[in-house]
Amino acid sequence: MSNLRKKHIPLYVQIFTGMIAGAVIGFAALQLNGGARFVQNWIYPWGQIFIRLLQLIAIPLVFVSLIRGITGLKNISSFSRMGGKTVAIYLSTTVVAVVLGLSAGLLVKPGSLVDRTQIAHIQEQYQSFAEEKKHLAEETKEQGPLSFLENIIPNNIFNAAGDNSKMLQVIFFAMFFGLAALTVSPAKIKPLISLFDELNDVILRMIDYIIRVAPYGVAALMAGLVADFNGDASIFSALGVYALTVTVSLLIIIFGFYPLLLRLFTKIRPPEFMKNIYPVQLFAFTTSSSAATLPLTMDVVEKKLGVSQETASFVLPVGTTINMDGTSCYQAIAVVFIAQVLGMELNAVQLLYIVALTVVSSIGTPGIPGGSFVILTMVLTSAGIPAEGLALIIGIDRPLDMLRTSVNVTGDAVTAAIVDGK
Ligand code: ASP
Repeated sequence: MSNLRKKHIPLYVQIFTGMIAGAVIGFAALQLNGGARFVQNWIYPWGQIFIRLLQLIAIPLVFVSLIRGITGLKNISSFSRMGGKTVAIYLSTTVVAVVLGLSAGLLVKPGSLVDRTQIAHIQEQYQSFAEEKKHLAEETKEQGPLSFLENIIPNNIFNAAGDNSKMLQVIFFAMFFGLAALTVSPAKIKPLISLFDELNDVILRMIDYIIRVAPYGVAALMAGLVADFNGDASIFSALGVYALTVTVSLLIIIFGFYPLLLRLFTKIRPPEFMKNIYPVQLFAFTTSSSAATLPLTMDVVEKKLGVSQETASFVLPVGTTINMDGTSCYQAIAVVFIAQVLGMELNAVQLLYIVALTVVSSIGTPGIPGGSFVILTMVLTSAGIPAEGLALIIGIDRPLDMLRTSVNVTGDAVTAAIVDGK
């Protein structure tokens, strides 16, 4: 019976309910003698298990989806010029989105709205993590300017894959592997490509299962967090400002950055583009999945924007996998916000690292609802920020996911128009 009823409640409503329930449990526990301890010992660990599951799937996901994305370029080897142009536009728009997100997060400082004494308290909880990070920062200072590049190249793929903070190294290997695979004859490589296709399906299914337990994981994490914050409510106003920062930044991309690109590089008038792309944005907004929106995006881009089928059938599917301007902008703000709440100062090297990491990791983000959760746990760990910080933002993620998915698909359509020379 309860299972039947649950089916009718959308997952994002369940996750939001989980967040509220967790907060209520946390507040209630604080009223009881030893309640906070009970929450830390018996409830919070379930949230940790949820985070660990997300982390568990991150390396296989990045590895498989990147190789799949790159080997997918095979079908278009004859369009190598179009391929280069498309990838260049995708990467540069993603960099702009990340820099915008990072600047917004650093300027607005939503995380600093959390009560100072609470931040000090939280810092105590993450003492060992902070010390480790300080040590790391000191180490980076001592290294030469090219050490950043050096650290991207793994000297042992198993060591890299065995350490969640070495995400860039795994990405490097996957890209190298994928590019090498592209040069092997199609007949020979076919079984390998279909193996990666199937692996990708299995991994997406695993993510689906993990996300299904998200309402419980979020409830447990939230209860632990409220107990940690001693019931301080300033975190909620900080969350509100965080959500607003993400929303405004995403709107700037849609209504400022994309129209500018259209004006500079196409003959399409931005209002006309917006009028035609509107149903696609709405569909992406309601489904929170750029993959699910792809058929509609293709239809509209071809029929309404007049992009050739040749261009659309290459640019759009590739974009669904590798181009996520909304997601990367959001990830940058999320990382900065979590660092601020945990009282962590990010130095210039870390910020640069976050830019590189969010740009490449958005390539490995699946175009499904909540696709970024998995990737975000890795970005956080790699940037030296505890992944548990995800608990802060996951409860209110759905509306932001809806908006960033709309941005993601709009970016794909803009790129298709530019590549096609419309
Ligand atoms: N839902 C997004 C998409 O499908 C991915 C994400 O940011 O979670 O594009």
